[in-house]
Order: sequence, then structure tokens, then C-alpha cells
Amino acid sequence: MTTAETVPFRFFALRVDRTRRLGPSLVRVTFTGATDEELKGFASGGRDQSLSLFLPHPGQPEPVMPPLDGDDLYAALGAWRAMPDDVRAVMRSYTVREQRHDPDEVDIDFALHEDGGPACRWAQQAAKGDRVVVLGPAVADNTGVRFRLPDDADEVLIWGDETALPAASSILQSLPAGTRARVWLDVPYAADRMELATEADATVTWLVREEGAPAAVDAVRAAELSGSSPYAWIAGESGSVKALRRHLVNERRIDRRRVTFVGYWRKGLSEDALREAPDTSDDDV
Ligand SMILES: Cc1cc2nc3c(=O)[nH]c(=O)nc-3n(C[C@H](O)[C@H](O)[C@H](O)COP(=O)(O)OP(=O)(O)OC[C@H]3O[C@@H](n4cnc5c(N)ncnc54)[C@H](O)[C@@H]3O)c2cc1C
Repeated sequence: MTTAETVPFRFFALRVDRTRRLGPSLVRVTFTGATDEELKGFASGGRDQSLSLFLPHPGQPEPVMPPLDGDDLYAALGAWRAMPDDVRAVMRSYTVREQRHDPDEVDIDFALHEDGGPACRWAQQAAKGDRVVVLGPAVADNTGVRFRLPDDADEVLIWGDETALPAASSILQSLPAGTRARVWLDVPYAADRMELATEADATVTWLVREEGAPAAVDAVRAAELSGSSPYAWIAGESGSVKALRRHLVNERRIDRRRVTFVGYWRKGLSEDALREAPDTSDDDV
């Protein structure tokens, strides 16, 4: 039986405090709690900590949610699902780029894309006071953190596109000093490159698409890797993630249990459609 102390996720009502453009493709939105107390129970596990963000439709003053004061998360989610699509809040997955205290704040970095879904459009126009709800971590050790570095890893391989740049940045910040890391970051524009804070011994390659960078899998295939027990984390567009995982497991012979992979989005499918689509991530691996 779960108690309030052990429930790993909870709804939090947040407000936008400020926004900052990080480059052509990313905007940082900094949130505070809707009340001073609201973020006290928020406990990001860092690294690639994800959450579900509930956003209003254009014209709505706040996300439309069922009552959220009960303890039963599943009942609340069921009630949300039962509401009409064009009324209920839009749900999208995002990463906690950083949580800070005094004052309590949470940053989320949004990739802006030409296909402009509701979350992208919301982020482009976000302004102080805008209201959202997140289903986020209430304990730091939770299943929304997928990056799990094995003790015996002697090299970390990281690939992410612009949607996974927030997670990759936060993972790099968390790596123990001296950890050997090979990192490929796939971004649309040269001006999307940014400073990355890390104590790891990291070699970072920016794959800039406007400069004609090779496809992710070709860039990684061309690299000479030196670790004998590597750990890999790959996240971003599903097709690239799948090709990379296949390369790492089938060609590089990395134990599949040491390759963490997450399709963050798929070309041509909204996140709602992706949730309904069959999971083919294990095919051919
Ligand atoms: C665990 C997890 C963590 C994530 N963390 C982040 C994060 O921190 N920052 C972030 O920006 N994204 C993140 N994403 C990805 C994000 O959830 C998707 O990009 C999402 O589809 C954006 O919603 P939307 O409403 O803008 O577009 P949707 O309505 O979902 O999609 C509309 C159209 O846009 C296309 N599309 C979606 N994203 C992109 C893109 N980046 N580039 C080009 N076309 C796109 C879709 O294929 C679709 O055709 C994460 C996803 C997961 C699963």
C-alpha cells in the first residue's frame, strides 16, 4: 500500500515567472509554485528527470483539469482522459532542466519546431503569470529518471537532439569528475551550441544540421570508442534513436541492458498519436 510519503509523483500547480531564449531552437521557461508552498514537495532526481506538463488550449486562462485534491493519481488521470479532447488540458512530456531552492524554481527548456504543436506554440508565447499543471516527482528516486550509470561503466556515450539537449546538459552536470564521456548533440543551427557545465572528461561533438552534419548513426559509427564496459544514453527523434540503438547493440555489441534509449518524439506524429502508436523500439535489436 502506498502512503503519501511514498507516492513518487504528484500534481503541482505552477506559474511562469520568466522566459529566456537560449538560442534559435530553445526557450527556457522558469516556473514558480502557484503558491509559495506549492514547490516545497517537488523533488527532482536530476539527470533526465521527466514530467508530464498540462497546458491550456489557446483562449483558456488555465489548463482544464479534474479536481486534483484526492490522493488517487490514477483516478485523476482517468477523469482527465474522460474529458473532451478539445477541452481537457493538453499533456506533453518534458524534462526538468533544473530545480532550485530559495526561491523555489523549476526550469524547463522547450525546443521550438516548425511543425509547431500546442506545447511549442505555448512556450513561444509564455509570459509571466501563465498557469500550468505538472505531474512531477515527489521523491527524487523515481522512474522518471532513466539515466542510470552502472558502477563499472568506463565510458559514457550520449546522443541527443535539441529536445534531449536539456536532459543531456543536466546528465553531464551530474557525472562524477573524470568520467570519460563521448557526447553527440544534434541541433538545427550553429547558434544552438551552448556552454555545458561538467566535471566529466567529456568530448562533445555538435552535429549542426544547417552545416550539413552527418546523420546521428553515421557520426557515432565513425567514432573510435575506447571503453570496454560502456554505458549509453540516447534520446530524441524516434527514428534516430532506433538506428543508434541498433548500431550500438548489433554492431558495437554493447549489452542492450546498458543502452538506455527514449524516443522523445516521432516525425509526423503528435505526442498524443505517438502514445497510441504500437511500440516498435525493440524491433531488429
Ligand atoms: C521523457 C521525455 C522528455 C522530453 N523532454 C523534452 C524537453 O525537455 N524539451 C523539449 O523540447 N522536448 C522534450 N520532449 C519532447 C516533446 O515532448 C515533443 O517534442 C512533443 O511532441 C512536443 O509537443 P508539441 O505540442 O510541441 O508537438 P506535438 O503536438 O506533439 O507534435 C506536432 C508535430 O510536431 C512534430 N514535432 C514534435 N516535436 C518536434 C521537434 N522537436 N522538432 C520537429 N518536429 C517536432 C511532431 O512530429 C508532429 O508532427 C520530451 C519527450 C519525452 C518523452
